[in-house]
Amino acid sequence: MNKYSYQDYLDFNLKISDLNGISSLLQWDQEVGLPKESMDGRARQIAGISGIIHELYTSQYYRDLLNYLENNVDLDKTQKLNIKLSKKDLQRKICLSKEFVEELSSAISNSYSAWEEARSKKDFKLFSPFLKNLIKLKKQEAELIDKSKEVYDVFLDEYDAGLKSKEIKIIFEKLKPQLISLLNQIEKKEKIDISITNKIYPNNKQWDFGIEILKEIGFNFNAGKQDISTHPFTINIGEKDIRVTTRIVENNLNEMIWSCLHEGGHALYEQGLQSQTFGIPESEASSLSVHESQSRLWENHIGRGLSFWKLKYKKLQNLFPENLKDIELNEFYKIINAVSKELIRTNADELTYHFHIIIRFEIEQLLFSNDFNIDDLPEVWDELYFKYLGIKPENDEKGILQDVHWAHGSFGYFPTYTLGSLYAAQFYEHAKRNIENLEQKISDGDFSELSKWLKVNIYEKGRLQTSEEICVSSTGESLNSQYFIDYAKQKYTEIYAL
Ligand SMILES: [Zn+2]
Repeated sequence: MNKYSYQDYLDFNLKISDLNGISSLLQWDQEVGLPKESMDGRARQIAGISGIIHELYTSQYYRDLLNYLENNVDLDKTQKLNIKLSKKDLQRKICLSKEFVEELSSAISNSYSAWEEARSKKDFKLFSPFLKNLIKLKKQEAELIDKSKEVYDVFLDEYDAGLKSKEIKIIFEKLKPQLISLLNQIEKKEKIDISITNKIYPNNKQWDFGIEILKEIGFNFNAGKQDISTHPFTINIGEKDIRVTTRIVENNLNEMIWSCLHEGGHALYEQGLQSQTFGIPESEASSLSVHESQSRLWENHIGRGLSFWKLKYKKLQNLFPENLKDIELNEFYKIINAVSKELIRTNADELTYHFHIIIRFEIEQLLFSNDFNIDDLPEVWDELYFKYLGIKPENDEKGILQDVHWAHGSFGYFPTYTLGSLYAAQFYEHAKRNIENLEQKISDGDFSELSKWLKVNIYEKGRLQTSEEICVSSTGESLNSQYFIDYAKQKYTEIYAL
């Protein structure tokens, strides 16, 4: 008679997942509808439940259970892999002392508040000492987790298992000159006038159109819903409950459309993952890079493609005839793909976007080197923006303080955005090779074969395959940025008549 069974492992993880779901629900509610005065109480509730989860998760019972199953029970290949990944997750938690976790989490809270203040005063100096402290603690954290690895690679491993900074460097070095050359060619051409997207588009009609888009691409409203929040996001609340949010700005059509498609892509992945056993690694995302590949595939390859708008443009024109009745489909297609050098990452087009990421990555390499003075950051920031995009922010708010990631202690997160785009291009090209007339099918509103391709090649792999393994098994090769370059060249040569 075995002391523990695999079923015990499933039961335990289901319980943990349910508690995590409760915590996610509290956070979701905080973002979409919490009354102002309830903030403190809510923060206490979230901290309270996090403590309960942590205690249970790191309990002796679970450690014994995993060790026992690993060494004494006959498991199949999939079960073994689930246990191995769960052990890795647990190890990452138990190698940090309670005191260290508390110190780090309070440093993060303080640095978040400092970042908010610095941002509103457009002054990096107010954030700088907090960032210094955070980096010191993150270095310690990386050492506690895995002394044998480079500090930055320990962070990368959390977001994309096995990823190394030297691999990213090689990928980015190949991408840079090709993107720069494409941008230079575009710059010589006439600018596309996008002012039509800043006319008035009533909120309620935008909302209806967003829901229609989500339904069209296959979001299951019986196992999820959409709401409004300041920053759009996707969150997994529990089994068969995936929430997305969008942002609607009355004089900007772009916000709602791209956030619905982007978050919709994340949500389709999350909903697709749930065909596996809920609560264990096989029903979790492979990595942040693969997660981002799914949002960008739907946002860019489909949502910014001509085929999709052959399907939806008439409807959009009918909803907003006062703005769009004289704009032809082809013109609209150019407008939604216009390239311009912007200071803000989240407003960037498909091409310049990657320089925002490359710059963050290059700076993150400096932050974790030993001889860099953090006070010099704004200067370095300006230099790099000028070098790659020929622009300079007029203040820190539009520069180094624009994103929250570092204030949250998330280093190594930014590269997954660009890697996601590169994966998306490679996946989409292979989906097209495998599905006859995919573009025509999209124009006909038939997404069934694409959904099936994504399910078989990506969703069903869960976390049992790394990004690299998923890429090789679904496309026959490792990540290759040439797919993105070819896609971009073809698309923008046509749009800008290069
Ligand atoms: Zn995303």
